Amino acid sequence: MIPFIDLTRQHAGLRAELVAATARVLDSARFVLGPEGEALEAELAALAGVRHGIGVGSGTDALRLALTAVGVGPGDEVLTPAFSFVASASTILMAGAVPVFVDVDPATFALDPDAAERAISARTRAVVAVHLYGHPAPMDAVGALARRHGLAVIEDAAQAVGASYAGRPVGAWSDATCLSFYPTKNLGAAGDAGMVLTDRDDVAARVRRLRHHGDGGRYRHVELGLCSRLDEMQAAVLRVKLRRLAAWTDEHRRIAACYDEGLAGLLLVRPVERPPARHVYHLYTVRHPDRDHLAKQLADLGVGTAVHYPLPVPGQPLFGGGGEGRWPEAWRASREVLSLPCFAGMRDEEIHAVVRAVRLACGGA
Ligand SMILES: *Cc1c(COP(=O)(O)O)cnc(C)c1O
Repeated sequence: MIPFIDLTRQHAGLRAELVAATARVLDSARFVLGPEGEALEAELAALAGVRHGIGVGSGTDALRLALTAVGVGPGDEVLTPAFSFVASASTILMAGAVPVFVDVDPATFALDPDAAERAISARTRAVVAVHLYGHPAPMDAVGALARRHGLAVIEDAAQAVGASYAGRPVGAWSDATCLSFYPTKNLGAAGDAGMVLTDRDDVAARVRRLRHHGDGGRYRHVELGLCSRLDEMQAAVLRVKLRRLAAWTDEHRRIAACYDEGLAGLLLVRPVERPPARHVYHLYTVRHPDRDHLAKQLADLGVGTAVHYPLPVPGQPLFGGGGEGRWPEAWRASREVLSLPCFAGMRDEEIHAVVRAVRLACGGA
């Protein structure tokens, strides 16, 4: 059996360091907002080449607070891709605004900048660019569009820490960038955690305030915020893992290269890495016209797979469902995508076994 993901492999070589890091926090008895979190904020800001990192409770809260911090509120519309994890849109509702769904580029799953431009109204305030599966959205085009229409740009980099576009890291292209440290993400905590990255002093100050009850200092609450702070245990774990991130990214890229080579010539669409994007392959997601049958065959051959995501965002019951005619690429993607195992610590024989199984299932053995 080849699992879709096995996080115990990541932890095996790090156990002693992780235990020491969490013991350090326990002994310090500082658990919420402390030196580990501040160090992690500085390290991740430096990785993106921006001045501020603000640790929060999850990637979802990072998006939710970043939206408010860049000025999104009731009455505003925010452009977001029709194909993503639900949080790329639900957080817009949480911020009191209205998500306006934009169909995606079928090759990269990023929001299509031309379709985004057509969706702009007098109320549009911001655009959320999602680096889905670890492939950066076309940030030059998104930035140009935002400048033409006076929009704020938010990067949803929950799946793309360490990726870059035109040699510039994700996080350096926007007013605010959101990271998720959900355990299965490329940089995963031992629980929930997230971060906002920004080069803007005003956005950083606002997120800092909003993550702690809108506290303007000394129990003086100036606006409605959340209770969403990064805890020291998670920060300490993440700092140990951050030192491995570049090596793990190389592993993801190597697995992707093996799949690209091994799966060539099949009736299946492989993911692209479209220059000048540098993909981190958080997920290696193929497309197949008979996805469910392929997934079943692979399961029978002992290969775990997953579907990210079986419904486009506007197709979710939360958003009313439907819209096949309005967002055809998002709907087609939701029927065709299948993610193959791609995780740090995967063994060569497992990678080759996945290739053999997919070739067999696709009749190209
Ligand atoms: C995981 C994820 C989020 C939310 O992050 P959480 O830490 O789970 O709250 C948001 N957007 C995308 C694209 C994600 O993959």
